[in-house]
Amino acid sequence: MEIHRRLPERRPYPAPRKNVLLLSCMDLRLIDDICEFMEGDNLANRYDQLVFAGAALGVMQPRHAAWRDVFFQHLDVAVQLHEIRDVYIMEHRNCGAYTHFLGPEFEYSDSPKGQMTEEEEHRKYAQSLRDAIIQHCAERRDSGGDPELWSINVRCFLMDLRGSVKMLIPEGENYDF
Ligand SMILES: [Zn+2]
Repeated sequence: MEIHRRLPERRPYPAPRKNVLLLSCMDLRLIDDICEFMEGDNLANRYDQLVFAGAALGVMQPRHAAWRDVFFQHLDVAVQLHEIRDVYIMEHRNCGAYTHFLGPEFEYSDSPKGQMTEEEEHRKYAQSLRDAIIQHCAERRDSGGDPELWSINVRCFLMDLRGSVKMLIPEGENYDF
């Protein structure tokens, strides 16, 4: 489903009640588009932003395993300092990190098939990070953390190079890869 980057209409998920942690790629073409998207959710000055090359892929890839630790250490601080209740994972098309980390075959064409394959790969990494975040929160609750603090929604998005955004994973869905 396409989401208007600036306007709150057609956003198929509940508006965040508290603050948000945004994970995005470092891609310089989309910095302004990401700000517009967040403002369209009434989140100006209401989100922490973590930037990892490749967004979810960056956090989950094994070459720099420390990046995963860094992400979750920052998530812990953000939840405690800023009442984060939603994590947004913002993937994007034509992401250079895919060829950097995975190889030249992960450069996708503009054909419908190339675009669909690209979307599937982003969905795969976003879902695996989403599941890791949900697991992390469950572990925090199990070890005595405040259950309200550690109930976090994870929303997964894909942005194209015009800044248009779609939901990568609809609410409550699970995909098999
Ligand atoms: Zn990228």
